[in-house]
Amino acid sequence: MRTPSPPRLRHANAKRFFRNGGEPRIRLQSCRFRIAKGRPLLEDLMMTMRFLVPLLITWALLGASLAERNSKDIKAFRVSKTGGNKELLLRLFEHIRSQEASKNSGRLARFRMELHVRQRVSSTTYLVDGEGEPYWFVAKKPLNKVDGDWLVCLAKMTDEVKSYTTVLKAKKTVRVIKEVDESELNLPPPTPPLTKEKFVEELKAGKTWTVTLVDNCKTCGGSGSLKSVSGRRPCGSCSGGRAYVTYSVRW
Ligand SMILES: [Zn+2]
Repeated sequence: MRTPSPPRLRHANAKRFFRNGGEPRIRLQSCRFRIAKGRPLLEDLMMTMRFLVPLLITWALLGASLAERNSKDIKAFRVSKTGGNKELLLRLFEHIRSQEASKNSGRLARFRMELHVRQRVSSTTYLVDGEGEPYWFVAKKPLNKVDGDWLVCLAKMTDEVKSYTTVLKAKKTVRVIKEVDESELNLPPPTPPLTKEKFVEELKAGKTWTVTLVDNCKTCGGSGSLKSVSGRRPCGSCSGGRAYVTYSVRW
């Protein structure tokens, strides 16, 4: 009579386990779930599954919620096909107009300096700190600043230097920073405000804008929570009652 062949198992350790007649003599250091002497194989497999199953479920749920979020978050808004949704179109246009206007404030940002007054010399002259270094600051018009105040203005670092004597009679030479007017910076003119005509023209030329609108959540009415048997539970469709929808606006 032939002895029955061991069941086919993919697990390398399981194969060894059966080859040794159910009593493994070698213990593999590299194997994470070592088969203990005499412990049934099924128990080991169950152990593995106890770790694997929750991991797989979490991974699947996370993947599903991310996919759902991505598809929900960006909505295409075709201006040429809006039909009756004039209200939404107007809201999107207002957002785009302020988006475009905010680009103008960025023009001056790199000339805006923030300086800490170390010592007031006169109403237009100050010894200031700029990132730890002392500088001689010259304002365009008298300022009402005292030691310890902050100066925030459009200013330019010059090649000029200024020498002065400290209270301890030490001679110091520092670079001069001068306040400037916007007109002195030779910047390209600011972009004019976006008109509806220009908006349509740019859309037709293929431009797209991305706009995120914030509304009260329709599921919970903006309260952020829903009634449940045991009181209230957080609403799953929003965060804190606010729902964010991002539109890709194109022609
Ligand atoms: Zn909600």
